Formats: sequence, structure tokens, C-alpha cells
Amino acid sequence: MYEVAEKEKLKFIQNGLKEYSSKRNYDFGPESRENVSNLSKYISHRFINEYQLIREILSENKLQKVEKFIQEVFWRVYWKGWLEHRPQVWNDFIDADPDFIEDDYNRAINGNTGIVCFDDWVKELKNENYLHNHTRMWFASIWIFTLNLPWQLGAKFFMKYLLDGDAASNTLSWRWVAGIQTQGKNYIARESNIRKFTNQRYMNTSLKENALPLNEEKFYPLCDIRQLHTDQKNKNIVLFESDLHIDNRISFFEEYENVYLLLLDNKNRVVELDEKVLFFKKKLQESFIQKIPNAQFLNDDGPSKTQ
Ligand SMILES: Cc1cc2nc3c(=O)[nH]c(=O)nc-3n(C[C@H](O)[C@H](O)[C@H](O)COP(=O)(O)OP(=O)(O)OC[C@H]3O[C@@H](n4cnc5c(N)ncnc54)[C@H](O)[C@@H]3O)c2cc1C
Repeated sequence: MYEVAEKEKLKFIQNGLKEYSSKRNYDFGPESRENVSNLSKYISHRFINEYQLIREILSENKLQKVEKFIQEVFWRVYWKGWLEHRPQVWNDFIDADPDFIEDDYNRAINGNTGIVCFDDWVKELKNENYLHNHTRMWFASIWIFTLNLPWQLGAKFFMKYLLDGDAASNTLSWRWVAGIQTQGKNYIARESNIRKFTNQRYMNTSLKENALPLNEEKFYPLCDIRQLHTDQKNKNIVLFESDLHIDNRISFFEEYENVYLLLLDNKNRVVELDEKVLFFKKKLQESFIQKIPNAQFLNDDGPSKTQ
């Protein structure tokens, strides 16, 4: 899989990067994704390392020509750092038990709302396990402001199906659309914007375009991040699927007797994942194990080279 990711990365750098800043906002449909990188499924697992990717791009391009793409990658880095410093935002998201109308929710997750673009995106999300960034914004906005459903359920629905599902990027983007991340500023999906940036594929979509932002009373203070005790030498290290880059870490892994990879099943997850997403994560971890000799899965029955 590292080779597949490398190939996809090079293809984008050679073909898509040049026009990224002018075309990236268009969703031309699932058959035509050349205007964006499609690398998030790798970047979100750090199968492709953000900084490595940026260094590689800058080694062959002037910053001005590729700045927009680099800024987007840094959105991910920013969201991660933001949530790391405020873990209670995640806990509250997981524990939330908001009121909602069950029939409305079922219509939304089954793509039966009658809003043609939204219903198509539900199918696309389930089939492709991906949505374009602009579409994610429209989707979340329609979910919250036109369908009146709680943002937390939408964020969980995305996490379930996205191959790139990421605690920080996903939760905080949903909060941003709702108007509680940048407080008082919500993102409104507009018919004209959807029409233009889907290249006229969706017209005359009737949406609530005058909704006010949601309100959040709670303030989340900054927390210190617990430092690792680097002087303490452990025999084992445990990695989740969200940190799989190798690059310059081979000698770091060699310092341990065992590198254990954990892949939680749905019984042990706070947000249940689609089988295709779990399968993809397993494949990424298997590739890591093939490259690192002292790496293995940690299963219920103990360590093993296979899951
Ligand atoms: C409601 C909502 C939910 C989202 N959930 C996730 C998620 O779970 N995981 C995730 O990785 N991204 C998420 N995003 C951000 C963004 O939509 C995806 O990263 C992007 O669409 C992935 O496609 P790409 O790799 O082709 O992106 P490109 O446009 O090619 O961007 C390159 C890379 O930059 C990063 N990036 C781009 N835009 C953003 C952004 N707005 N925020 C954070 N990082 C960004 C990603 O790592 C991406 O791979 C979400 C956005 C919204 C509005």
C-alpha cells in the first residue's frame, strides 16, 4: 500500500497540483476527481506524512504556485493541535445525547430527503467512502440548518463512512459549519453556490438560506499536553492506525523489542465504522508490518503478524 499511496501522490503532484488553487472548489462528481488530491485517506493515517509531503512539493515548486495546497494540509495540522489542547470537546461530542426526530434522521441517512443533491451525496459517501471538501460543507450545512438534525449525529455519520475519518478535522469542521467553532459564524449552503461549483449538476435546490448559527454556552480552556517521558526506556510501543508513517522512523522503531499495532473493532469503538473503513485501516497496518520487522498486530489472543 505504501507503493500505491506513493503512486497516487506522484500522479497528483505531476497532474493536479498546478491547477489546484483555481479548480479545487469544484465538485465535478465521483468520476472526475483530478482537481483535488484524494490523498486524505493516507494523510489522515499519516501513511503519508504531512511535513514530508510539503517538503517534497516545495523541493520542486515555488511556494507561490503551491501555497493553497500547503495551506489546506496545514488546516489538518491546525485542527489536530486545536483538539489535542481541548480534549473535552471530543468527550462532549461523544457523550452528547441531543433530541431529534427519528423519521427525519432515518430519511437523511438513507438518502430519502427529497433534496436531490443531498440524497446523491449520501449514496456517494456510502459507496465511495469519500466526499469532496465543498460537498462536505454543503452536506453538513443542509443537515444542520435545512433538515434540523443535530450536528453530532452528522459528524458520527461521516466518521462511520469516510476512509479519511479523523477525530479533529471532522468534529471541528462540523462545529465550524454549525457556527460554534468560530462562534457566531455559521456556514450556509446556498443554491447558487451548489449550482456553480457542481458545474450545474444540481439546480433549483430549495434550502433554508437564512438560518442563524447554533449557540454553545460552554467555554473550553486550553489544556497542557501530557509530555512523553523520553528518558524512560520501554520494551514495547503501541501504535494506532492514525500514525503509520515510516520515513525516518526506522531506527526509532528498532529501539523497541516490539512495535504493536492496535486496530479496535466496532465493539471497542465509540463511533462504529463501516466494514470497508475497517478493512482499509487493516490493509494500511498490514503494509506497515511488512516494512517493520519487529511490528505485529496486538489481538485479543495476543501478538500476531495477521489480524
Ligand atoms: C464537515 C467536514 C468534515 C470533514 N471531515 C474530515 C475528516 O474526517 N478527515 C479529513 O481528513 N478531512 C476532513 N474534512 C476536510 C476536507 O474536506 C478533506 O480533508 C478533503 O476533502 C479530503 O480530500 P482531498 O484529499 O482530495 O483534499 P485536498 O483538497 O486535495 O487537500 C489536501 C489535503 O489537505 C487536507 N485538507 C484539505 N482541506 C482540509 C480541511 N478543510 N480541513 C482539514 N484538512 C484539510 C487533507 O489532509 C487533504 O488530504 C472535513 C471537512 C468538512 C467540511
